[in-house]
Amino acid sequence: MSELLPVADALARILAHAGPQPTVIEVPLLDGLGRVLAESVVSHIDVPGLDNSAMDGYALRLGDASQALPVTQRIPAGIVGSPLTRGTAARIFTGAAIPPGADAVVMQEDCSEIAGVVTISGDVSAGQNIRPRGQDLAAGETMLNKGRVLRPQDLGLLASVGCAKVKVFRPLRVAALSTGDELVEPGNGQLAEGEIYNSNRYTLAGLLRNLNMEMIDCGIVADNPEATYRALHDAASSADCVITTGGVSVGEEDHVKNQVEQLGHLRLWKLAIKPGKPLAFGSIGETPFIGLPGNPTSVFVTFCLIARPFLLKLQGAEEAEPPRLEARAAFSVEKPGIRQDYLRVTLENTEQGLQALIFANQSSGVLSSVSHSNALAVVPPGTTVVKGDKVEILLLDSLAR
Ligand code: AMP
Ligand code: MG
Repeated sequence: MSELLPVADALARILAHAGPQPTVIEVPLLDGLGRVLAESVVSHIDVPGLDNSAMDGYALRLGDASQALPVTQRIPAGIVGSPLTRGTAARIFTGAAIPPGADAVVMQEDCSEIAGVVTISGDVSAGQNIRPRGQDLAAGETMLNKGRVLRPQDLGLLASVGCAKVKVFRPLRVAALSTGDELVEPGNGQLAEGEIYNSNRYTLAGLLRNLNMEMIDCGIVADNPEATYRALHDAASSADCVITTGGVSVGEEDHVKNQVEQLGHLRLWKLAIKPGKPLAFGSIGETPFIGLPGNPTSVFVTFCLIARPFLLKLQGAEEAEPPRLEARAAFSVEKPGIRQDYLRVTLENTEQGLQALIFANQSSGVLSSVSHSNALAVVPPGTTVVKGDKVEILLLDSLAR
C-alpha cells in the first residue's frame, strides 16, 4: 500500500465509499441556506402568474399605436384591469397584469399624455414589454433538484412559488481530532520550547462550517497508541465521519494508521499529491475515516481536494466539480515532480488575461501560502512550467467556500 496513488484515482476510490444519505428534516425556508435539498421541488404555480408589464408606460392594441388614444384606465401592480376597448390605452406600471385585449406596452419615455390622451412615438411590436405568464417557472416544472446545495438565489426562487419550508438532509456530524504531543491550544498560555499552537483545528472548523456541517471537536490526541485508539473509537461512535490531522506519516510517532487498522480498515494511503502525500482513508467500524496529514498547508489542500467532495457526497449533495480556469504562469517549475503539485498562487487581471503569481515559499508548513493566495495552480506529475505557459487554476473560493 505504499505506492503513490494518482489524485483522480484516489478520489474515485474514496467517493465510492460515501454511504447512505443522512435523514431528512424539514426546516423553515430562511434556515435552508447552505443545506442540501433532500427532494426535488416542483413548482405548483406559474411564475409570473399573469402576463404583466415590464415597464411603466401604456398598454395598447398594436393596431391602435399610430392614433391618439384616450387613457381609460390606470393599472398599478397588484390590480387587474378591465378588458381594453379598441381605440383606448391603459396607463400601466411595472409588474401590473396586462389587460385583456392589449398586446404591447410602450414605455412612458416614448409616450406623451396630454389631457388624458396619449400619443406614441416610434415603432411598436407585438408583445413588446410584456413578460409572459410562466416565463420564469411553469406549473409542474422541476425547479430545483434533490442534492442541490441551497444558495441565496435558490431561497428566493423557492419563495417565489410560495414554499415556506424545505426538506433538507440533516447536517453531517464530523468528528475532528488533532494529533500531536507538540500541540497547544491557543488561549492555553505561552508555548514552551518545541511546542506549537494547534492551527489545524481552526482551519478544519472553518472549512466544515462553510460546508454547513457540524464539527464534533475531539480536541488534541497524544502521540501514543492507546490514546489514539480510544480517541478514534469514541469519535467514530458519535459521528458520520472522522477526520484526523497528523500522525499518518511513516515515523514511530505516527499512530493513526495502525489504530485505524485495529478498529476497522485502512483502504488507502499515500497520494501523488503535493502538498499532502500521507493522506489516509478507511473506516472505523462503519464510520468513514479520513486521515489528513499534519502540515497545515497539506490539511487545507487535501481537505479541499479529497475530503470536501467526499463529505459533500456523504451529505447527499450533487455538486458540480469546481470550475477549472486557465491563467498564464508568472513563474516557472524547472524540475518535473512525481506528484501532482497544487501551488498556492494569486490571480491577477492583466490586459492579456489572468496571470498567476506564485507565493514565494511553497513549503507545506507555511500556512501563509494559503492565506495570501486566492487560487491553486495545478502542475501534473512529470511536467514543467515555463513563464508564460498556461496553467490550470482552481479558485480557493470555489473549493473552500
Ligand atoms: P505529523 O504528520 O504528525 O508528523 O505532522 C507534520 C507536521 O505538521 C509537523 O511539523 C507537526 O508539528 C505539524 N502539525 C501537526 N498537527 C498540527 C496542528 N494541529 N497544527 C499545526 N501544525 C501541526
Ligand atoms: Mg505528529
